[in-house]
Amino acid sequence: SQFEEYFLMDEEAVKAYVRHKTEFFGSDELIATEIGDGNLNYVFRVEDSKGQSVIVKHSGRTARISDEFVLSTDRTIREGKLLEVHGSFVPDLTPTVYLVDETMKCVIMEDLADHKILRSALNTGDSFPNLGEDLGRYLAETLINTSDFVLHPKEKKALQQEMINPELCEISEDLVYTEPFYDNNHRNEVSETLAPFVQSLLYDDEELKVAVAQAKLKFMNKAEALIHGDLHTGSVFVNRDSTKVIDPEFGFFGPAGYDVGNVIAHLFFAYAHAEAQHDLTQAHYIETVINEVQAYFKSRALKLLKDKTRDVSLKQEKVFASYIREIERDAHVIAGLEIIRRIVGLAKVSDITSLSADVRLQKEVQLLKFAKFLVQYPEEARVYPSLFSIYNDYEVQV
Ligand code: ADP
Ligand code: MG
Ligand code: MG
Ligand code: MG
Repeated sequence: SQFEEYFLMDEEAVKAYVRHKTEFFGSDELIATEIGDGNLNYVFRVEDSKGQSVIVKHSGRTARISDEFVLSTDRTIREGKLLEVHGSFVPDLTPTVYLVDETMKCVIMEDLADHKILRSALNTGDSFPNLGEDLGRYLAETLINTSDFVLHPKEKKALQQEMINPELCEISEDLVYTEPFYDNNHRNEVSETLAPFVQSLLYDDEELKVAVAQAKLKFMNKAEALIHGDLHTGSVFVNRDSTKVIDPEFGFFGPAGYDVGNVIAHLFFAYAHAEAQHDLTQAHYIETVINEVQAYFKSRALKLLKDKTRDVSLKQEKVFASYIREIERDAHVIAGLEIIRRIVGLAKVSDITSLSADVRLQKEVQLLKFAKFLVQYPEEARVYPSLFSIYNDYEVQV
């Protein structure tokens, strides 16, 4: 029968596939559309005329954007399983997974057609009352429930083995921790006007490179929690009543602060965008969201640690406090690194690239200086009333 051996499916094949694997659809004619906008994978919406629909995420042997990137098709299987693990802690914050198909390298999941991608929603002035709380809860639940405080040590190692992700980790190691600071592979892309700032702020700063190397070693060695690994505002779907996190294909057991830091970094891009548009209401809203993410993360993480830690030797208030403190510290470093790599590296964010040249340069320089502070002085960042007081210190006219 069909679909017992992998091949790269097109729209026609995906329609037959969904009929073969699920019972969502009657005898109606189906429509399949490839709606992916990412670099790596294919995303198909399959729908009938009655408004029923599902999403099929499917991986090819190379990246969607370029045949030069050869990647294991197993990434989508890992992603499906990771969505199920995270979904077991926060079912309302993840799409429902209907099928993870290890043969066809597919995940069939809930269609979130009634949601919008957070990045574009924030940049067009939308606000969502539960966003900060939802993101804080997502971070606390997924990160603490997969930590050594809650998982049995053997269960944790088994899951860690299943979620090992060398290929996509290498992409992060290169794009986040190496290339922005050395321009090795010559993939950095900066405007002529930004180039001198990148030279002096990044390439020429040897102390910064020490801090970055230390952070990179943490990324490679700190198997603290099952992280999402790519938690930018393009991986979050939202509407008035609901928040959903998608696309955890970069996930593995890594530093918990990685996800927290990514959320903070990308909300700062949204903040800078709102400021550049002189939309002070929106900027204020985003500031509130960042502060809420941090506060909800912290309080919920602490509660989970208190309620769910099994191991008597770990069940100590001082240990909980220092653990959360270190996640916050790591998050500051990662937020800085993510801001830097999205400004100078090859994967840019539309929050910034959509700005006119002069405002863009101003925001890029401010963000780079702010980011450097976070990378080099993550502890000091904790004593400021909020990250915004640091960011505002670097307001520049260039
Ligand atoms: P990639 O790994 O290639 O970045 P994503 O999982 O981010 O793929 O999906 C790419 C795009 O496909 C998303 O930005 C979104 O527009 C759409 N998409 C992905 N999953 C869903 C879903 N469950 N429901 C609706 N649209 C989705
Ligand atoms: Mg994506
Ligand atoms: Mg769900
Ligand atoms: Mg992805």
